[in-house]
Amino acid sequence: MGRVGLRVLALMLLLGAAPAQAAEAVTLSGVLAQGSVALGQTEPGAAVRLGDIPVPVSPDGRFVLGFAYNAPETAVLSVRLPDGKTETQTLEIARTAYDIQRIDGLPTAKVSPNPADTKRIQDDQARIRGERQEALAEPSFPRLGFILPAEGRRSGVFGSQRILNGQPRQPHFGIDIAAPVGTPFVSPADGVVRVASKDFFLLGGTIMVDHGYGMTSVFAHCEDVLVKEGQRVQRGEQLGTIGNTGRSTGAHLHWGTAVGGINVDPAVVLETLRP
Ligand SMILES: [Zn+2]
Repeated sequence: MGRVGLRVLALMLLLGAAPAQAAEAVTLSGVLAQGSVALGQTEPGAAVRLGDIPVPVSPDGRFVLGFAYNAPETAVLSVRLPDGKTETQTLEIARTAYDIQRIDGLPTAKVSPNPADTKRIQDDQARIRGERQEALAEPSFPRLGFILPAEGRRSGVFGSQRILNGQPRQPHFGIDIAAPVGTPFVSPADGVVRVASKDFFLLGGTIMVDHGYGMTSVFAHCEDVLVKEGQRVQRGEQLGTIGNTGRSTGAHLHWGTAVGGINVDPAVVLETLRP
């Protein structure tokens, strides 16, 4: 509840500074916080950068910004308008409090994976990273708007992290939705399937959808993968079924969202980018 309250406050502060100024080169809606996304509107034909990173802008001037889970306190947004004028804004990025769990005294073998497994894990991660960069480099702009891909108990949240024997693990970059094996799940938004694999090492059955605007979703631990790479999908169309494949300890759908290479909280995507 505290987190939602903070978000609303941040949104009011953001909007409070903006309205009434008709000449703004860019308006943002959403909450500027670690792990969050914001929807931007600028003039058609403008070029947008967040820090050093170019942000895809749709023909009607819309774009999506993503803020990393550990983003620094400020980010510089620059907009070059079609007339050549450049405007820059310093965005204040609110801190997000994540759940951190420390577990000490574990046997070393449980903490460090073996080299063969590590290689497969790295190959899988490289594939996901590569596809995300493709989505950013060759963006499309289908209908925006996200819905929940499946109903179920929310068994994992974005950004939570375990520290095992003092070694921080990668934070959890997604949400987990627990439901029985075989439960159908759908695409949360329009897009194109970029990955459809039965056997990623950690993720098991894995589907990645490119939603345009540089945004992607990854679905993991699937039982059935019912789509093919390159296939167009619409919001609400079934992608597969929930499973317990890969490194998973109970049937659930892992849903991760990213803007370019930046992991963002799907729960915030749902709030910010409603259909
Ligand atoms: Zn997960």
